Amino acid sequence: MKLRNMKVAEIISALQNLSPELLQESYDNAGLIVGDPKSEVSGALVCLDSTEDVVQEAIEKKCNLIIAHHPIIFGGLTSLTGKNHVERTVMLAIKHDIAIYAAHTNLDNVQEGVNRKIGNLLGVQNMQILDPKKNLLRKLVTFVPVAHAETIRSALFNAGAGHIGQYDQCSFNTSGEGSFRGGEETKPFVGVRGETHFEKEIRIETIFESFRQGSVIAALLNAHPYEEVAYDIYPLENEHPGIGAGMFGELPEAIDFRTFVAQVKKTFGSGAIKSTTPRSDKVKKVAWCGGAGSFLIKKAIASEADVYITGDIKYHEFFDADGQIAILDIGHYESEQFTMDLIAEKLKEKFPKFAVHLTKVKTNPVIYY
Ligand SMILES: [Zn+2]
Repeated sequence: MKLRNMKVAEIISALQNLSPELLQESYDNAGLIVGDPKSEVSGALVCLDSTEDVVQEAIEKKCNLIIAHHPIIFGGLTSLTGKNHVERTVMLAIKHDIAIYAAHTNLDNVQEGVNRKIGNLLGVQNMQILDPKKNLLRKLVTFVPVAHAETIRSALFNAGAGHIGQYDQCSFNTSGEGSFRGGEETKPFVGVRGETHFEKEIRIETIFESFRQGSVIAALLNAHPYEEVAYDIYPLENEHPGIGAGMFGELPEAIDFRTFVAQVKKTFGSGAIKSTTPRSDKVKKVAWCGGAGSFLIKKAIASEADVYITGDIKYHEFFDADGQIAILDIGHYESEQFTMDLIAEKLKEKFPKFAVHLTKVKTNPVIYY
C-alpha cells in the first residue's frame, strides 16, 4: 500500500475529535508543543512519554511527528541550553524538524479515552465515569420562523448539539409569536422596515457541550434566515455523564481477590502491585483511573467498588482506603501504557494510508528489583 503524507494540523484535528483539547485540566499543557501545524509529516510515532530516546527513534523511523500522552513541557521553559532532559528533548526535536503533540488529561476525561481502554482490558461491563464534570453543558434557546424550524434543528444537531446520554437530536419545541421592528438600515426577512411585525415562530431549546459553542452558534447563524438572530445561551449545573475522570463498572462474575490481583499484574505487566487490605475476598465492582489517581479515592469508595486500580499512591493516601476499598497501585506507566494503542488504533482507522508507529522504547523511568 502506498503511504501518504499529511499535515500536522490534519492529524491534530482527528485527535481533537477523539479528545478536544478544551477538555484538558487547568494545570495541563496538552496540545501541539513543538512544531508547525502547517508542516507536512510522513509518519507519526506514538508514545506515553516523549523522551530523547523516543525522538532518536523518530529520526531513525523518519517520523516527523511524535504523539505522546504526557506533555514534555509542563512548566515554563526559560532557556534552551540542553541542561536537562526536557530541554535536550525539545532541542533534538526542533533540530530534526519533528513536531511533538500531547493528548493528556483531555484523553483521560473522554468516554472513549484512557480509562475505557483500561476497562476493556479489565473485562469490566457497564462502565460509567467516576467523577463526571460539571459546567460543561449549556442550553441554547432560539426563535425561528415555523417553516425553517426543521432546517435549523438539523443544522444544530449536525454541529453537535442535542446529545443526552445515548440519545441524539434532543430538543424541545414550543409555538409562539415573536415581535420585532426593523430600524432604518434593516432588510427584514418578513414584515416591513419600520413597522411592528408579529411572526409565528418556534422556540427551539437544545443542549450542547461548551467546547462546541463556536460551531453550534456558527451553524445557527448560517441556517437562520433572519438578519438578527435571537438566541440565548444558559450555563447548566448538570453533570456531563460522558466526560470526567476515572471509571467504574462490574466484572461479569465475582472473582477471588488474589486471582484478580494476579490477573491485573499480568495484564498490565506490573513489577509489583501495592495494595491495602481487601474489604472482602471477592471482587465484583471495580473502579480505576489511569495515571496518578489518588484524587479519586473518595469517589471510588462512594461508587461502592471493591477495588480501586490506579498509580502513584503515596503512603498516607493508602490510609484513606479506611477498610472500605482495596486500593491497588499498579504503577503509573503500567496503568496508562495502552493509551499508545488507543491513539494508534484511532489514527490508523481514520487514516489507513498514513504511517503510524508505536514506540519500541520503554519509557517507564521506574525499575522493579
Ligand atoms: Zn500519566
